[in-house]
Amino acid sequence: MEIIVIGAGLGGLFCGALLAKEGHKVTVLEKNPHIGGGLQTFVRNGESYETGMHVAGGFHEQGSLYRICRYLGIWDRLEIAQSDLMSSVIYLAEGRTYRIPAGKEAFVGYLSDVFPEESGNIRNYTEALFRLSEEEKLFYMKSNPETYPVHSDEFMMPADEFIAKYIDNPELRSLLAFVNPLYAGVPGHSPAFLHAMISVMFIDHPCRFAGGSSQLADALSWVITRNGGAVLTRTNVTRILVEERTVKCVIDSEGREYKADTYISDIHPCLLPDMIEGKAFTPGYCERLRTIPDTVSAFKVYVRLKPGRVPFVEHPVSILDSMPNTWNLSVHDPEGWPHGVSCFMAPSADGRWATHISALSLMSWKEVSRWAGTRTGHRTPDYLEWKKVRTERVLDMVSKVFPDIREDMVECFAASPLTFRDWLGSRNGSIYGYFKDSGNLVMSQLPIRTKVTNLLLTGQNVNMHGIGGVPMTAIETAETLTGIGVIVNKIRKVR
Ligand SMILES: Cc1cc2nc3c(=O)[nH]c(=O)nc-3n(C[C@H](O)[C@H](O)[C@H](O)COP(=O)(O)OP(=O)(O)OC[C@H]3O[C@@H](n4cnc5c(N)ncnc54)[C@H](O)[C@@H]3O)c2cc1C
Repeated sequence: MEIIVIGAGLGGLFCGALLAKEGHKVTVLEKNPHIGGGLQTFVRNGESYETGMHVAGGFHEQGSLYRICRYLGIWDRLEIAQSDLMSSVIYLAEGRTYRIPAGKEAFVGYLSDVFPEESGNIRNYTEALFRLSEEEKLFYMKSNPETYPVHSDEFMMPADEFIAKYIDNPELRSLLAFVNPLYAGVPGHSPAFLHAMISVMFIDHPCRFAGGSSQLADALSWVITRNGGAVLTRTNVTRILVEERTVKCVIDSEGREYKADTYISDIHPCLLPDMIEGKAFTPGYCERLRTIPDTVSAFKVYVRLKPGRVPFVEHPVSILDSMPNTWNLSVHDPEGWPHGVSCFMAPSADGRWATHISALSLMSWKEVSRWAGTRTGHRTPDYLEWKKVRTERVLDMVSKVFPDIREDMVECFAASPLTFRDWLGSRNGSIYGYFKDSGNLVMSQLPIRTKVTNLLLTGQNVNMHGIGGVPMTAIETAETLTGIGVIVNKIRKVR
C-alpha cells in the first residue's frame, strides 16, 4: 500500500516508520526545512538547542519506548542519559527546595521523610498513580481490543481533585503537582490520567536525549527510507482533494501533487477543514475540529553560558514563585507572569559544566495575539520590546537560583507563542495540542478515523501528547491499517 503522511513530527515519523517496517511505501511530507516538529534540535552560533522535548521516559530496559525502538532497529542510534532525580523543585516565597528522586520506592521514601504524617497517604497515592497508568494498556505495550475502553472514575476525575483525594497536607498537594508544566494543567479540568501517566513515566526512569531529540527524528526517518520510503522537507501541504469521501491527492504550496492509497495527517486537525476541497467533512465535524480548545503555549529563553561557570545538573530545575501558584502556570496574568520557570541544562563535553540553560514558562496566546498577523523574521519593534521585557522577567526568576546568570551568559534569545505557531503550525502556538478536559473527555479527543475513508489522524491532538502518548497513538493509527494488535504483538516479542 502507498501511504502519505502529512507532517514529520514525532507522530508522523513514528507512524511512518511502523508502517514502512510493515512493507508499505511511505512518503512523509514536511513543511519545514528540518524534520521533527517538537523533536527538532537547532544550532545557533555552534551551540545545539532543543525546540521542545527536554525530558523523556520509557527508554529504560523493557520500558515501552525502549521496546518500540528495539523493534524498529534504532535503539543503537539513540544516546539516552538517565537521571537519578526527577526534578529539583524550588518555591521562592516559602524558601523550600525539594529534590525528588526517581524510582517508585525512592519517591515514596523521600516524600515520606519530608511529610512523615502523610506517609500512608503518599504510598496510597503512588499506588493509585500506577493503577491509573495501567488502564492505558498500550502504555505497557499491551494490545487493547476494545474500541471504547471502560475506565475507572479516578481516571476521568480532575488531577487536582485526584491528588486531594489521597493527600491532606496542602503543601504536599502543591508539590505533587510539580509535573504540571509537562501537561499544562488546569485545576478542575486536566484529567487525572494525564497527571498519572506523566508522573509514572518520570517516577520510573526520567531521562533526556543526550545527543539532542532530533536523533530520534533522524532515526525514524532512517527506518522509512531504508524500507523504500521517503521523507520530503520544504513540502507545505496546502490542499487535500477529496471525491466521494476519498482523498484523491494532496497538493503543496508549489502546486506539486502527491498520490497514495492512504493518507495520515500528523498536523493540527483544526487546519484540515480549510485544506480539504470537495464534500468531505460534515459541518458539525468541521465545527468540532475548529472549536476544541488548545493547551497554552510557552515562552522559552535560551541562555548560552560561558565555559566552566555553571555546574551541569542532569535533572530539570523547577522554580516557582509560590506553592499555591503551582496550578496557575497556564493562567493569563500579564502582570504576575511568570509564576514558574522550568530550567533544562545541556552538558559540556566532560559533563561537568552547563553550556546553556533553556528556561521554559507556560504562556497564554493572549499575550501575543495583537501580533498574530506577523511572521518570524518580520516582527514589529513593539513586539521585540515586549519580548525583551518578558525575557528579563524570566532571567529575574532564574537568577533567584543561579544568581550570576547575567554575568555568566554569552548570549540570550527567546521563542514566544508566535514562534511556536509559525514553526510547528500549531494553532495559537499551543505546545501540547488539544486540551484534554476531564469534564468532557470524549469531546476533547478525536477518533483516528475521519469522515473521509482513506484519511487517518495521528499525533498529539488525537490522544495524549509527548513521548508517553504520541508513539502509542502512532501504533494505534498504524494498526488501523494492519489490524489491531498486529504491531504491538510483534513489539512485545522483542527482548
Ligand atoms: C516547548 C515544548 C516543550 C515540550 N517539552 C516536552 C517534554 O519535555 N517531554 C515530552 O514528552 N514532550 C514535550 N513536548 C511535547 C512534544 O514535543 C509533542 O507532544 C510532540 O512532539 C508532538 O508531536 P506531533 O507529531 O503530534 O506534532 P508536531 O511535533 O507539532 O509535528 C507536526 C509536524 O507537522 C508539520 N506541519 C504542520 N503543518 C504542515 C503542513 N501543512 N504540511 C506539511 N507539514 C506540516 C510541522 O512542521 C511539524 O513538523 C514539548 C513541546 C513543546 C513545543
